[in-house]
Amino acid sequence: MKRSARDIILLISMLAIAAGWYALSRDTSANAVGAIVWIDGFRSARLSLEQADEFTFERGGDINVVRIENGTARIVSANCPGGDCTRQRAISRAGELIVCVPHKLMITLESVPAFDTVAR
Ligand SMILES: [Zn+2]
Repeated sequence: MKRSARDIILLISMLAIAAGWYALSRDTSANAVGAIVWIDGFRSARLSLEQADEFTFERGGDINVVRIENGTARIVSANCPGGDCTRQRAISRAGELIVCVPHKLMITLESVPAFDTVAR
């Protein structure tokens, strides 16, 4: 599969989002309450970290299985080449992230409840 310019642009925009996310959530002392799943640079889902569960993200044959457990998120299985994302450690604090580069999928954590914007 040839790596098109579009792929590279998507990757760069994902990294830009990651960098922006990191800058916005430098206060990493807070335990995260929600995990955001980004696919192709778009916010695809928000998972609560407060309830143990397992979610499968499938897009065009690309599969990533995300497990929420004890307030942490990790990728437990994926069919990407190399499977690097499945070896990244579980994340639990705001600002941490897991990236699956071949699938252009990224998980970031936030410490703000989805429906609550009270300042900390
Ligand atoms: Zn992966």
